Amino acid sequence: MSKLYFTFSAMNAGKSAILLQAAYNYRERGMEVMLWTSGHYGVAEDATMGEIQSRIGLQADAHLYRGDTDLFEAIHAQHKKTTLSAIFFDEAQFLTKDQVWQLARIGDQLKLPVLCYGLRTDFQGELFEGSATLLAVADDLREARTICHCGRKATMTARMDEDGNALTEGAQVSVGKEVYVSLCRQHWEQALGR
Ligand SMILES: [Zn+2]
Repeated sequence: MSKLYFTFSAMNAGKSAILLQAAYNYRERGMEVMLWTSGHYGVAEDATMGEIQSRIGLQADAHLYRGDTDLFEAIHAQHKKTTLSAIFFDEAQFLTKDQVWQLARIGDQLKLPVLCYGLRTDFQGELFEGSATLLAVADDLREARTICHCGRKATMTARMDEDGNALTEGAQVSVGKEVYVSLCRQHWEQALGR
């Protein structure tokens, strides 16, 4: 089972909780796993360790990856020290195209399963680089479901300003005061005034 998995969804579908539960299952059986999350935003520039947190209170320490992290090398080095059974990535939408290919090689050459969890699209409905590449090359695609206020499946994410208006312009990632809301496609289009 050395596949590359990608579990995608809109915001707030509980991806981190699913990741932490799956990692726990390995650890409970005495198997070593390596957890990673994004070190792009909201952490000190030189930090190497951070945390994966879920909204329902689960959390675990995780290595931080950035755009220039050689993931094949880092995981290979750790695997030589302690035999790993699986690798987990939270915030996988921020992986670069090269890094996703490094993860594919982890599966193909080191025979380790790599489980990635991330957003499919940004607030403008565009694929993230990491998600686009994962959708292209992962062996196994899964969708984590969440629902819109209307009860339909939410596939889109809207960025709302402090007054509750959906934003249509801006950087792909913002760490300001905006909040994100998961919506079905129809309500997302309405919110964006299309
Ligand atoms: Zn809806």
